[in-house]
Amino acid sequence: MSHRDRLEATCPRCQGQALFIEPFEFTTVLPTDQPARRWGGWYVVERYPQLLPWQAPAGSSSQHLLHGSSHGQGYVPLTRGVVECQTCQAPFVHLLNWPQDAWWQWSVRGRLLWAWDRDHARRIVEYVRATDRPRRGVYGDIANLPAYFLAAKQRDTVIKLIERTLNATH
Ligand SMILES: [Zn+2]
Repeated sequence: MSHRDRLEATCPRCQGQALFIEPFEFTTVLPTDQPARRWGGWYVVERYPQLLPWQAPAGSSSQHLLHGSSHGQGYVPLTRGVVECQTCQAPFVHLLNWPQDAWWQWSVRGRLLWAWDRDHARRIVEYVRATDRPRRGVYGDIANLPAYFLAAKQRDTVIKLIERTLNATH
């Protein structure tokens, strides 16, 4: 289960490079250094208490965190969060539309390849480039990479596209 709480996204206002940040931190231990709200078995720390205060999901009798695009009851991280953009300056609330919002994305013969952030893009290209590929499970966030992008036919295109972006940006 990924505990990723910030993604590199395209700013929905200026189209520049920005960060999308999960506004809440969930912990089972009461934090001593910052205020926290109680939600079932969780303590919820608000990263942006003014901008996006915690509201328990409506109708959820069981307090659980849902990951991915589930439609159950509970809280789904990385859905409604905060965009921090150097150009726009003031952080603002945004409903994430992933992977369309991904800053790191490439069209490979009409299919969308994306990365969570720069490090993830680097790990993808390293993995695709490797001639003797270890099992994907060992790589964590590479495990979800569709086999399509690993096929010999796409390999060179994928490497070229990702490396070009990595070299062009910081
Ligand atoms: Zn912006």
